[in-house]
Amino acid sequence: MRKRIIAGNWKMYKTIDEAKNFAQEVKGKLIESEIVEAVICPPAPYLYELAEITKGYSIKIGAQTMHEEIEGAFTGEISPTMLSNLGVQYVIIGHSERRMYFNETDQSVNKKVKAAFESNLTPIVCVGESLEERESNKTVEIVSNQVTKAFLNRTGETIEKAVIAYEPIWAIGTGKTATADDANEVCHAIRNTVEELYGADVANKVRIQYGGSVKPENIEELLTKEHIDGALVGGASLDSNSFLKLIEAAS
Ligand code: PEP
Repeated sequence: MRKRIIAGNWKMYKTIDEAKNFAQEVKGKLIESEIVEAVICPPAPYLYELAEITKGYSIKIGAQTMHEEIEGAFTGEISPTMLSNLGVQYVIIGHSERRMYFNETDQSVNKKVKAAFESNLTPIVCVGESLEERESNKTVEIVSNQVTKAFLNRTGETIEKAVIAYEPIWAIGTGKTATADDANEVCHAIRNTVEELYGADVANKVRIQYGGSVKPENIEELLTKEHIDGALVGGASLDSNSFLKLIEAAS
């Protein structure tokens, strides 16, 4: 059975005090579970402190992005080894906002996936179609292509540890959610792509999240679906009660 994963993407929100309060509030309320894993992805300046606060508790820390090189003259960037040295365990790669505003491409996503694995970070690889692509029935083609390119030249042994987040761009931060059936259909197509590339065993192990306006009110139905193994959540992960409700719904 695949362990569910609920990850909160805080984007560029919260003060350091708000971030620390959140971590203090939730850490004692989460119990180690075989069923669900909880991850929060705060802004980069808060990673160290939140990793320290949550050490030994059933909540993991993820970064929202990283550079693909281990070190170098890349002013302003953060390397994968810097993240893992801080106690970070996950990293979101290729979020649609990174692709849209920071020129991330399938090629840079591929390099970052490789670098993440080499630094013992688990990548949460985001894929998803625009509204225009959905309306022209290109969703499966777009998403399968993104998955294929993200994992190019990686082995099945590494890919089975990755998390893939299916996030239709038109559903992010808009209040519009894909129906549970539609989300499941695309997550199924993603699993089929992984199977074609790496075989059924890897495809059965890889975890696929849905993301796009997930909240306590709609998560339960999404999680009843066979191919949805959790959620990547933006807005509804910012409030500690709402985040705890999401974890509870997945438990
Ligand atoms: C996200 O940022 O990955 C996301 C899914 O945001 P929201 O839940 O706010 O739509």
